[in-house]
Amino acid sequence: MSGYYYHSGCPDRYGAHYLDACSVCGKSLHNSDIFMYRGNTPFCSKECRQEQMEMDEAREKKLKFGRAHRKSDSKTSTPNKTVRTGTITVS
Ligand SMILES: [Zn+2]
Repeated sequence: MSGYYYHSGCPDRYGAHYLDACSVCGKSLHNSDIFMYRGNTPFCSKECRQEQMEMDEAREKKLKFGRAHRKSDSKTSTPNKTVRTGTITVS
């Protein structure tokens, strides 16, 4: 069982590498301004950063909607009277 060793292909190095390109359009960021967003996402321009922000916002909105939508309004014992109560959820 000798002569067995791990290949230490360090994947961590890729972490730094991706900072070389805009994460929206993929443009190289060498010799150009880098716009950061959320600490670790680089962009070549304000426009690209804006785009990412909007995508994130849309995604977050979707998530919230999805959760609200999933609120299973199970048919619990229906009272005789038809009561229309708008369920207002204020948290
Ligand atoms: Zn870009």
